[in-house]
Amino acid sequence: MAIRKIVIHPADILEKSCKAVVSFDKKLARILDDMYDTMIEFDGVGLAAPQIGLDARIAIVDIDDEHGTIEMINPRVIETSGEQTDPEGCLSFPGLYGEVTRPNYVKIGAFDRKGREYTLEAEGFLARAVQHEIDHLDGILFTTKVSRYLEDEELKGVESE
Ligand SMILES: [Zn+2]
Repeated sequence: MAIRKIVIHPADILEKSCKAVVSFDKKLARILDDMYDTMIEFDGVGLAAPQIGLDARIAIVDIDDEHGTIEMINPRVIETSGEQTDPEGCLSFPGLYGEVTRPNYVKIGAFDRKGREYTLEAEGFLARAVQHEIDHLDGILFTTKVSRYLEDEELKGVESE
């Protein structure tokens, strides 16, 4: 396990659609383990492979709830509904936070590290984090969705993804 370097915006890798994972092997497991260590080191609630410089549809989310660490390989959004507007940040944009409106509910399909397909339903903050990470895999950055940037005094308790 190792902590990887976070790619900071601007960088081409952050703005491209990533390639699907085809091998569910030891290399994938090591990437996921490293992504977890890196997310924890930088105090994030999610991390996508392009944020460590990898062109691969791999992302993790851990908002410290009963779901534990959600590993999403080749994830796809199946359904969304509702709306939520809340502060959001990103490990690739240190110190930058803004309000982003996203669906309040999302249902996704993805594969785990062993190549088993699963579906996940999420609401609220978890749904926000999941959608933020899946956006990364399509080269979509949260800054394209910010309606208002936040000032320092508004930032208490906002975590980065
Ligand atoms: Zn991000």
